[in-house]
Amino acid sequence: MQRKGTNEPYREPTPDGHFGVYGGRFVAETLFHALDQLEALYREVRADPAFEREFHADLAQYVGRPTPLYFAERLTAVLGGAMVLLKREDLNHTGAHKVNNTVGQALLAKRMGKPRIIAETGAGQHGVATATVAARLGLSCHVYMGSDDVKRQSLNVYRMKLLGAEVIPVHSGSRTLKDAMNEALRDWVTNVDNTHYIIGTVAGPHPYPMLVRDFQSVIGQEARAQCLAQTGRLPNALIACVGGGSNAIGLFHPFMNDADVEMIGVEAAGLGLETGKHAAPLSAGLPGVLHGNRTYLMSDADGQILDTYSVSAGLDYPGVGPEHAYLRDLGRARYVAVTDGEALAAFRRLTQIEGIMPALESAHALAFAEQEASRRSADDIVIVNLSGRGDKDIMTVAELDGIRL
Ligand SMILES: *Cc1c(COP(=O)(O)O)cnc(C)c1O
Repeated sequence: MQRKGTNEPYREPTPDGHFGVYGGRFVAETLFHALDQLEALYREVRADPAFEREFHADLAQYVGRPTPLYFAERLTAVLGGAMVLLKREDLNHTGAHKVNNTVGQALLAKRMGKPRIIAETGAGQHGVATATVAARLGLSCHVYMGSDDVKRQSLNVYRMKLLGAEVIPVHSGSRTLKDAMNEALRDWVTNVDNTHYIIGTVAGPHPYPMLVRDFQSVIGQEARAQCLAQTGRLPNALIACVGGGSNAIGLFHPFMNDADVEMIGVEAAGLGLETGKHAAPLSAGLPGVLHGNRTYLMSDADGQILDTYSVSAGLDYPGVGPEHAYLRDLGRARYVAVTDGEALAAFRRLTQIEGIMPALESAHALAFAEQEASRRSADDIVIVNLSGRGDKDIMTVAELDGIRL
């Protein structure tokens, strides 16, 4: 299929962390040492079979991997097109893909001998996944969270507290994820000697986009092998939702050299791209610098970061991982956007015809997958990343239904 874009071959990031013109390390001088140390350790452990064994043992014993690649037979029949396979990241411990990364980074913290963990969180999912691994390893844990999010996500705030983490409300800016991440970076500058910062997605300064991607790539590694084993061939398309982009890149990356496998990232169009109330930097943003890297951002012509909106808290981020910006320019992946309404319809459909309640984030991928599968032939295979389970979203859906629980 002819794709838009430069069509240049995909390249791994340069030694200084550039994906094409994106990525890099735009941070205070004081953080360079910590980032260098993290990168050096990371490169060392990647080459160390003992680390790989420990990581995969934790994924098996603690997270519950491998997750199934499930043939959604009734959904496939209803759509009347391509075979739809769901990568069941919702079945992971803590209910989403985020724990793949926090388990990996907790092992790095342990190797560095750092007793304190910090993280940023929006909806609280990454905060919970971080507090979980910190509890398991007996590390102290501080989670930065915008004060508006603290109010909106009280259940996850309490979950983190039960797990022994301290949640620090951030009152600056828009009092959401963007501000929490700024504050976490500030904490790290001050406490870098005893603290490891676990970033929750493929954003931030180099080496985070590469490192988080590699930990999440277990998703695509499993899916590729499972698809071959279960169907005898590779899929035609991969579809995943894109907030910061970690579950999407985790699915995509192991297929990068399979030229015939299409990759589609689905952003949150919120109330519609034309309303400005969305969280779709790749579909409707501009390149700029945020949180230590160059990428596509929701910003105005003066470079001011705009407020984002989505019914799904996990997609509500004004930036996106730099590797996605790069894949978009190459034309190796394409990016689309799905509205709140479309995602909610997909949430209900999967719940009712497969008995699987997806996270509202994942429902964005499903909504586009429905369109994509319908227009494809029955010989095609589409893999959708079911990044998380929907239990956390029941209150949101009930409210939209006008029901008070
Ligand atoms: C956080 C989250 C996302 C969005 O994050 P990515 O880094 O884009 O993967 C998607 N799905 C679920 C269930 C999440 O919790």
